[in-house]
Amino acid sequence: MEVLEARNLSVSLVGVDVLRHISFTLRRGRVLGLVGESGAGKSMLGRVIARDLPTAFKVRSGALTFQGHDLVTIAGEKHRELLGDSIAFIPQEPLTALNPVLTIGQQFDEHLGRLGVPQADRRTRMITALGNVLLHDPVTLLDRYSFQISGGMCQRVLIAMAFASEPALIVADEPTTALDVSTQAHIVQIMRKMQRDHGTALLFITHDLRLAAHVCDDILVLYAGDIVERGPARTLTAMARHPYTLALQAANPPLDGPAHRLATLPEQMPGIGAFTTLPGCRFAPRCPVADEECGRAVPPLREIAPHHFVRCSGACLTQGAKASAPEPLPVATTTPGVPVLVLKDVAKHYPGERDWLGRRRPGTDAVKAINLTVRAGEFVGIVGESGSGKSTVAKLIMGLEPITAGRIAIDGNDVSVNDSAARQVRLGTLQMVFQDPQSALNPRRPVGRLITQSLEAARSTASEADRVMRARALLAETGLSADLLQRFPSQLSGGQKQRVNIARALCVTPRLLVADEIVSGLDVSVQAQILNLLLDLRRDRGIGLVFISHDLSVVRYLCSRVLVMQHGAVVEQGDAEAVLGRPQHPYTQSLIAAVPPEDPDRPWPCNSP
Ligand code: SF4
Repeated sequence: MEVLEARNLSVSLVGVDVLRHISFTLRRGRVLGLVGESGAGKSMLGRVIARDLPTAFKVRSGALTFQGHDLVTIAGEKHRELLGDSIAFIPQEPLTALNPVLTIGQQFDEHLGRLGVPQADRRTRMITALGNVLLHDPVTLLDRYSFQISGGMCQRVLIAMAFASEPALIVADEPTTALDVSTQAHIVQIMRKMQRDHGTALLFITHDLRLAAHVCDDILVLYAGDIVERGPARTLTAMARHPYTLALQAANPPLDGPAHRLATLPEQMPGIGAFTTLPGCRFAPRCPVADEECGRAVPPLREIAPHHFVRCSGACLTQGAKASAPEPLPVATTTPGVPVLVLKDVAKHYPGERDWLGRRRPGTDAVKAINLTVRAGEFVGIVGESGSGKSTVAKLIMGLEPITAGRIAIDGNDVSVNDSAARQVRLGTLQMVFQDPQSALNPRRPVGRLITQSLEAARSTASEADRVMRARALLAETGLSADLLQRFPSQLSGGQKQRVNIARALCVTPRLLVADEIVSGLDVSVQAQILNLLLDLRRDRGIGLVFISHDLSVVRYLCSRVLVMQHGAVVEQGDAEAVLGRPQHPYTQSLIAAVPPEDPDRPWPCNSP
């Protein structure tokens, strides 16, 4: 039975189509994946279902029907009724979706009240529902607030609430993006089991094609508002034909098998403002096989195999994407002599708060006696789940937090106490690249000033002309155009901001970068560009890197050595290929098992019955 059907649906903003002629069918008990990067239009579809389009966006033509009701035209009251009873949403940010001033029980109770569940039955219903999503001790959980539980637990609460009305359709918009890899595997497994048990139709919106291949029955790949490829998940991932789908696959580093330099697309997806300049295929400026035909008219969606469609004028179907021979990864060479960074038995303890009698509660050992040596030209990864202590290590290295025990040396100088001498040593040797490029860049400074900002901290006497020249050179080195010099951060894309962040870190020619989750917020094709940039910097500058990440595939791609952290301690370390290829510690094994395998036919928790 068809639950959701889109027929030629177009959404426009002041006459420009931001979603063009979208058609698909989602049946009962099936999972449809909407895959695409930021700006592809995938979340817009969820907003059409919720009638929550941003101001000035309108459904221009076509229909979106839910069990025969056109969600665009039905009366508001009927639409609200459907949203409560038959259509539920699982949001991207579980922590912001829950109200921090109400307990979990109060919010769940309110939700059940809206669904018409009698007061007397609600507590039992809540406890059963929270138990179904494998939350321990649901009775205690009802009295807790969202800020007292982890992001993964919040997401399970939201899944329990979404399934409470036994809806016919659930829209899950990037439900695991904010979670680490182990929590992602648990959440997806629970969601898939609940969906199978209830026969629910699930619209799964994600930027991760590899994850979608495991979770979904069918996949639509969206690019700049167009469906560019559509088909059964297994067929589409095994025999992808559109150059954009192929590029998404190629941009994702594998966790096993031979490692090659990631193939990247030039530039980035066009924004809405550029759509009017692209009357034909919107992928043409980045397409490796585009010809003059591609820019003339919107290419048709052609069926190239049963149920497998590709939007192309024909060039990519006849030529295929130009596959150049894979480039090998450059061999890492480290410089002998004094290491750039040495951590010897470094620990960090946070004392507990005092209770009302003035007694101190037990504190937290965030980092427990870790040892680490990094030489110039060496890339070392630190992996672990949220709360494992890996970001605290970055702060200790940078002197942002004092260490509780142990010793830190930079270029042979003891910097365990971050006094003015230690700060000078750090300034000349280390730079940090932060996770969120948006908040790391002062919005009031143009790019040129931002990049050379560290010269001020180093009290450089460089003239204005020298600073501009330096900024231009750094922009070129990080693959950015000199046109960006006068732009402000708000005028840059996410990938450009992270490059500016890296350019700024390079300004004082550091010998070691400390990078904390710097690609986790980026789209996969932009991530590939940044990873390749880091490898180029190692080749050209002999720079070292401490790379903190929860993404094991990315760490394997970049780093020659890896440390695995759990509860503040290093539980396994060594050569990255050995640790990630033949993990010995059960915790490392569990982290690796949680990564969706590249081959969708390989078992993974969520696709096992
Ligand atoms: S070959 Fe032309 S129509 Fe096909 S994807 Fe490339 S640019 Fe678009």
